Amino acid sequence: MATIVFVHAHPDDEAILTAGTMKALVLAGHRVVLMLATDGAAGLTSSALSPGLGDQRLREADAAAAALGVSDRLWLGYGDSGLDGNASIDPSSQTLCSVDVSVAAERLATALREHHADIVVGYDRNGGYGHPDHKRVHQIVHTAADLANIPTVFEATLSREVIIRTIAPIAALGALLNISAITNISHGFSTLSEISHRVDVSLFLDSKRAAMQAHASQTVGGGVPRTLQVFLGLPKWLFTRLLGTEFYIQTRGDHHENAIARLAQTSVLK
Ligand SMILES: [Zn+2]
Repeated sequence: MATIVFVHAHPDDEAILTAGTMKALVLAGHRVVLMLATDGAAGLTSSALSPGLGDQRLREADAAAAALGVSDRLWLGYGDSGLDGNASIDPSSQTLCSVDVSVAAERLATALREHHADIVVGYDRNGGYGHPDHKRVHQIVHTAADLANIPTVFEATLSREVIIRTIAPIAALGALLNISAITNISHGFSTLSEISHRVDVSLFLDSKRAAMQAHASQTVGGGVPRTLQVFLGLPKWLFTRLLGTEFYIQTRGDHHENAIARLAQTSVLK
């Protein structure tokens, strides 16, 4: 049995990027820990939910973690830096991007040691779509893995090609997801040539959907349909095509003898 610590930037990132892998690992007898770097307090939501959004989102993460069988849901203690990297919702808390990488990494390394992590999972070098907190998670996970001497390190990502070829023909969906407004997708996430593991989570999509549904505050607000809301409204075939494989880049350790590598992999991508 291995202990795998997934480090995510905000509550709901775990549901979209790695929930199926987490469920598969739990069912294979491993211990899965979810570490949230921030509370997501700078996220969009309805005006009714805005006050106390950070606490609300951490509670939603608890519900998502329960749906996945996660043993511990932790918080690194930092506030959400916002899309511009400068959000400051709660003056009493520091945002992730306002502290030195070394300080946040030391805090994470302490948690990795306490939980006897065998594998730590962070983000790719682009920070996925490029949110400052996601880029910071990339940095602190690698630094913490060095500090805590973690033998196996993965980066969660998405395939740039799969996103483009699935969404591009559906122009309306692309506009709804508002992806081009967030970043130029041709520079975000990772290419298939960079990706080392493609975990087939098609058998665990009910759990993944339940984890996504737990983040109810992220399905409202902002004036345009939210990414989570759009995903949850997709017909089953499209939901499976977009979310039925979870993508990773392994940067340290044996590429075959570890808990994530032993999960079923997607051989042919649609
Ligand atoms: Zn995020």
